[in-house]
Amino acid sequence: MPSHDVLIIGAGLAGQRAALAAAEAGASVAILSKVHPVRSHSVAAAGGMNAAIALDDDWTSHAYDTVKGSDFLGDQDAIEIMCSEAPAEVMHLEHIGVTFYRNETGHLDLRAFGGASKKRTAYVADITGQAILHVLYEQLMRHHETVDRFEEWFVTSLILDDDGGCAGAVARDIRSGDMQVFNAKSVILASGGAGQCYKPTTNALICTADGIAQAYAVGAPLMDMEMVQYHPTTLAENGFLITEGARGEGAQLLNSEGRRFMEDTAPNKMELASRDVVSRAEQIEINEGRGVGPDGQGIYLDITVVPRKRVLEALREIVNIGRDFAGTDITREPIVIRPGQHYIMGGVKTDTDGATPITGLYAAGEVACVSVHGGNRLGANSLLDTLIFGRRAGEHAARRATNIPPPSTRDSRLREDVARIDTIIARERGGRRVSAIKDELGTMMNQKVAVFRDEDGLQEARETILRLKEEAEVAAIDDRGTVFNQDVLGAIELGYLLDCAQATVVAAIERKESRGAQFRTDYPDRDDEEWLKHIDLTRGEDGDPEVSYSEVTITQWQPEVRKY
Ligand SMILES: Cc1cc2nc3c(=O)[nH]c(=O)nc-3n(C[C@H](O)[C@H](O)[C@H](O)COP(=O)(O)OP(=O)(O)OC[C@H]3O[C@@H](n4cnc5c(N)ncnc54)[C@H](O)[C@@H]3O)c2cc1C
Repeated sequence: MPSHDVLIIGAGLAGQRAALAAAEAGASVAILSKVHPVRSHSVAAAGGMNAAIALDDDWTSHAYDTVKGSDFLGDQDAIEIMCSEAPAEVMHLEHIGVTFYRNETGHLDLRAFGGASKKRTAYVADITGQAILHVLYEQLMRHHETVDRFEEWFVTSLILDDDGGCAGAVARDIRSGDMQVFNAKSVILASGGAGQCYKPTTNALICTADGIAQAYAVGAPLMDMEMVQYHPTTLAENGFLITEGARGEGAQLLNSEGRRFMEDTAPNKMELASRDVVSRAEQIEINEGRGVGPDGQGIYLDITVVPRKRVLEALREIVNIGRDFAGTDITREPIVIRPGQHYIMGGVKTDTDGATPITGLYAAGEVACVSVHGGNRLGANSLLDTLIFGRRAGEHAARRATNIPPPSTRDSRLREDVARIDTIIARERGGRRVSAIKDELGTMMNQKVAVFRDEDGLQEARETILRLKEEAEVAAIDDRGTVFNQDVLGAIELGYLLDCAQATVVAAIERKESRGAQFRTDYPDRDDEEWLKHIDLTRGEDGDPEVSYSEVTITQWQPEVRKY
């Protein structure tokens, strides 16, 4: 039974940054990932990360933009920490080897991004996540004596000790099917987002809400779960992301009349208003019959207005995506896009050191809700969030571990998880397939829990999820083996997705106003009197979410009408 000071679940940017910080603080670390670490979804991050490093910029301006972007639901103490620590984090990454683009004067180049009052997005072409993730992986190798990597291990549960603190996790070696307990004094969840609750999504197939459901199962509260981000530019064909970097470089959005409709909703920022605002404006054009594409369900993104040389240099990945997945040469013609699920602002509730209310359990990255994004995340603030709060969680978890003895865990949880997997494998065939249930969930969420929501649609979504949960309980799989049995893992992930989707819908029903990514057509206004508060969800006795509220921390910016 491996035992470490700090166990990190997930090896995307949040997990690897946490591992590096914990190792540098002298802790012994285990980092587990269900895929090879550099295949984590962070590798797909394209556009860049925000930091107020320009001489005429200031972190308080970045913080204000973030607060405004969050529609005043973000906690301002956490936002202040993230934005004030951002410049040093970018410099640190540069010094350990990330090749951020530079301008002709030799300084770091910065690109414009949505909702930002200055150019403050540092980038490496449109492969920023990949560039950072690979450098962090190299750095972790330097610590090979204290950091043990468990690659292609799937965590099935968190383990609590007798006092209700977190003492480790159960995981399955995907290669062999062996199950083990990992003991640790501190556990950091860094297992990423939940985009696969939706179909389509920009998120990888591995973004299945595992950490959210696992923390929720042991009693950790979830927060801001109703806040699901639709990105304004995803490929109409399949939901692939076209980075906001395109609009940052000057690309324009056009309706079927060839008009830049953003001048109606955001005359100052136009295409670079915040994502919730742009996605809603696009959806209105589509709903009112001014959409483009074969089914009228798209909008044109015109990148031809950006000089071709610049596109080939700074947006080369989306040139490839346009050519390979839409048959469009984006340097010569507009491409058809539409709003698509991209990110979840909510997650496991933490403080600004990543600590959850469960002793010894931390969370960082997309799985967590600090909350720096509130009702709507600004583009290029997520990479920043993973790195700042990944580091802080790593440092804090390591500090905590120096003062306490190793936990003694029982292996009852291990036995239960082994039995659960055996039961899934032994199910009689005949029920619905896991993939069919997942498809129905994703398609339904994309219809009823999307850019526009209302009570009837949300109630239908709630009922559908309860039915799908019953069907998932008996869904049979084909693979009965132990070696790389992805089939059985898919069945477990489906359970996580359903728990997460249920939390999203319950919170969306609860919030009877429109704020950030939650737009209720039956409550179209923001209501600060009643709803300037977070919705927290914990797992009730009957397994369904129980609702409570917590205060939004306001330090210097009072809520005001949001205009772009
Ligand atoms: C296409 C795309 C482009 C993006 N572009 C940008 C951008 O330009 N700028 C920006 O700021 N943000 C961007 N984002 C958002 C940002 O990339 C993510 O929010 C962020 O990378 C999440 O990092 P993470 O470390 O929290 O999780 P991830 O990178 O998703 O990593 C999760 C890790 O957890 C592991 N894991 C999950 N479940 C288990 C389990 N059960 N057992 C073991 N391991 C598990 C996975 O293997 C993985 O290692 C983008 C997102 C997408 C999808």
